[in-house]
Amino acid sequence: MANPSLLILPGDGIGPEVMAEVERVIAWFGDKRDLSFDVETDLVGGAAYDAHGTPLHDDTMAKAHAADAVLLGAVGGPAYDDLDFSVKPERGLLRLRKEMDLFSNLRPAQCFDALADFSSLKRDIVSGLDIMIVRELTSGSYFGEPRGIFEEDGQRVGINTQRYTEAEIDRVARSAFELAMRRNKRVCSMEKANVMESGILWREVVTKVHAEYPEVGLSHMYADNGAMQLVRAPKQFDVILTDNLFGDILSDCAAMLTGSLGMLPSASLGAIGENGRPKALYEPVHGSAPDITGQSKANPIACILSFAMALRYSFDQGAEAARLEAAVEKVLADGARTGDLMGPDGGTPISTIQMGDVILAA
Ligand code: ATP
Ligand code: MG
Repeated sequence: MANPSLLILPGDGIGPEVMAEVERVIAWFGDKRDLSFDVETDLVGGAAYDAHGTPLHDDTMAKAHAADAVLLGAVGGPAYDDLDFSVKPERGLLRLRKEMDLFSNLRPAQCFDALADFSSLKRDIVSGLDIMIVRELTSGSYFGEPRGIFEEDGQRVGINTQRYTEAEIDRVARSAFELAMRRNKRVCSMEKANVMESGILWREVVTKVHAEYPEVGLSHMYADNGAMQLVRAPKQFDVILTDNLFGDILSDCAAMLTGSLGMLPSASLGAIGENGRPKALYEPVHGSAPDITGQSKANPIACILSFAMALRYSFDQGAEAARLEAAVEKVLADGARTGDLMGPDGGTPISTIQMGDVILAA
């Protein structure tokens, strides 16, 4: 059988630096675990603009459609701040998400014990935390019509519309239940069915889809209570399913429970394709970090954990993903720290490449 294919888009800023460590990890899996990928590398963002005058070339878009999964570093940077909106680096990423129709955004918040003191919460509240937020990404109040600023009775009125179709709720709910089947079989769905019509429909459709996943436990929570519970007792959750707007807020909140931006991976998934795999784009949550670019200071762990998510969710290699995550856990426990993981008491940080070295050794 042919190897699964990966399209790697390192992008801008620290993107290529952290992605170089992922490429070493990928090579390791080929060497040591007999798990090889056909890897192709291409340009996105400012790097693509410099080469082609567009942040995402049509050929690259076609490669993304054809690949079994896409892995992206980061896009953007001060060099591109003055570009026309239509060719901004971020537009390359938006085009990928839109044309691949990636409606399900997976944001894990995992707290490695060695870093539990980075959280703004008490250690015992977050230590061992491992939750996953599934955020609907392509509909809801960010896209619903009518939207705009209109004139009404002699004053302006700003309008957004929270709008969800049954089909949109159905597919993201399915994605959350599928995910729950690979985790701890628990989903908590968050909306505001007490005050929003879209919330009423959301709850109804999620409940209906749940009937097809009898092994998964489903609970519902109003999103405001969910926000409170996330900072009060986050370990009560496993998979949280929510809409675009609430998910934007709740996933940032959950991310900061872990306290460190350089550690957070993400995945955006779409419909299951002919290859039996969802369309998928994996990327670290952090941006291009222009302030530390080119200094080998970047923490590659978020990008490496994004590849672990690809192993698990695109390639059905949960055990290998766990192997990689355990290596990350081990080096952190052993005290390996890039600059972003240094506490106030300091110490000497290791470089991006050294972090890659110790993870490979582990
Ligand atoms: P963007 O607009 O691309 O999201 P941003 O400036 O909002 O950029 P980041 O690029 O994520 O956000 O950077 C925020 C801060 O976190 C910066 O100081 C950056 O150096 C730091 N940072 C981000 N990612 C990492 C990383 N992988 N390792 C170390 N520090 C990081
Ligand atoms: Mg940012």
